[in-house]
Amino acid sequence: MQLAGSCFCGAVRFTVGTRTPYPYRRCYCARCRKTAGGTGAAANLLAQASTLAVEGAEALTEYAAPDATRTRFCSRCGSAVYLTIDSVTDFVYPFASAVDTPLPEPPERVHVFTGDAPAWANPPSSPTDLTVERNTNESIEGWHRRKGLLDGGRG
Ligand SMILES: [Zn+2]
Ligand SMILES: [Zn+2]
Repeated sequence: MQLAGSCFCGAVRFTVGTRTPYPYRRCYCARCRKTAGGTGAAANLLAQASTLAVEGAEALTEYAAPDATRTRFCSRCGSAVYLTIDSVTDFVYPFASAVDTPLPEPPERVHVFTGDAPAWANPPSSPTDLTVERNTNESIEGWHRRKGLLDGGRG
């Protein structure tokens, strides 16, 4: 599935292919919460780095964190656009909040790093949702495969 996204002011636009388009992961870690998660959590997607095309890349700025992740922001409006991990060169992690293409609704949500969530952002308890203090062992691809939702199409 091909995704199109942009920052709020429109200076940065991107397209990227993904086989894992369900934004089922809500991350409550401090980085996601502060950079892209006004509700206390941010949803990341996994997409194929080789398919990433950015328009207005000169407006992007990055924050390289000590954990070897780089968050790309629009330097004009401050929107968090996507994240990369230095050791993972095949993938980029667009923030669902930056994606303009309508994304499919996940059949369940997985709330990760809830140990870092502030009290006001208490993850909703639902019988179908999984809540974990830290991270899950299951990859984003693994979740999509297990749910039969891996998109074998373009990307
Ligand atoms: Zn912008
Ligand atoms: Zn996070």
